[in-house]
Amino acid sequence: MSNRYNIKYSKVLLIYTGGTIGMGCNPQTGVLEPLNFNHLISNMPEFSYIKADVDTYQFSNPVDSSDMSPMMWIQLVNIISERYDQYDGFVVLHGTDTMAYTASALSFMLENLTKPVILTGSQLPIGQLRTDGKENLITSIELASAKNRSGHAIVPEVCIYFSGRLLRGNRSTKQNADGFNAFNSFNYPHLCDAGVGFNFNHHFILKPDFTRPMIPHTKLDPNVVIFSLFPGIQENIVRHVLDAPELKGIVMRSYGSGNAPRQEWLLRILRGASDRGVTVINISQCISGCVEMNRYNNGYQLKNAGVISGYDSTVESAATKLMFLQGKYSDNTLIRKDMNRALCGEITI
Ligand code: ASP
Repeated sequence: MSNRYNIKYSKVLLIYTGGTIGMGCNPQTGVLEPLNFNHLISNMPEFSYIKADVDTYQFSNPVDSSDMSPMMWIQLVNIISERYDQYDGFVVLHGTDTMAYTASALSFMLENLTKPVILTGSQLPIGQLRTDGKENLITSIELASAKNRSGHAIVPEVCIYFSGRLLRGNRSTKQNADGFNAFNSFNYPHLCDAGVGFNFNHHFILKPDFTRPMIPHTKLDPNVVIFSLFPGIQENIVRHVLDAPELKGIVMRSYGSGNAPRQEWLLRILRGASDRGVTVINISQCISGCVEMNRYNNGYQLKNAGVISGYDSTVESAATKLMFLQGKYSDNTLIRKDMNRALCGEITI
């Protein structure tokens, strides 16, 4: 399906947080490290041909995204919300390693988002001959600029654009450490495929209330742990982690459709956590599919221990949604209630 869209008069804010796209080789160590944003732009004369007004904002210390943190997500929300009325869309340049976490966190923190916030980056620095960064950056700016005939953004969501695919941010996962197709959304269709033209999947794009303001949220509580089950998992080690008094949320990566060993000690620890007011979310280790705790007895036992379904959530989305809800509510019943509904298209219910 091809679409009419207007990119001519849009204003886009390009926010540079770091990542490979803007990195260069340190001559002493030979490893890649973040460079100044101006370096990035000066390597890209094509930038001046983009049909949108682009302003730039650079983090004072650009980071490898392994160093990304909830504080920086709050910083990003502040940068976007303080300039929200001045721009039609936002592009965030970010390292690929934790891009799906940042995209998921921003999707919850920017409530009723009516403008595109598109995260992108690259596998090769923009200064290198075979870089994927130029296409990713230019297409992201075009997508952030795209409006329909009524003047509304075509993609008013937090997204990741990479290698021809526009994906819902809170459905995305990094799938490839080397290939240019670094991201995919295994449980949700692409929002747009960018080939010769843009094929938007309108039906799958969020429809915010354009008459209401966007509401930024800047409180997060990161007292969360993600742990995976595996045959041979040891009681003492699990207990040590899950009994931490600060802990408020657990993302448990179970088997298949949400199954766990029926060992008494595991169910006891999980029940104990749940009784203390810790939210325990069950998501699958499989990259696609959904948790159904009613399918097998081993899943049903978890439900009886107070564990709640994470449905078809990504691990990135489940963890950041917990951080967001723990920052918003002190009452665990409200957290559990919101974990059971889609706030911005992150799960299929
Ligand atoms: N380590 C880099 C980062 O996430 C990798 C990348 O940008 O692709 O910042």
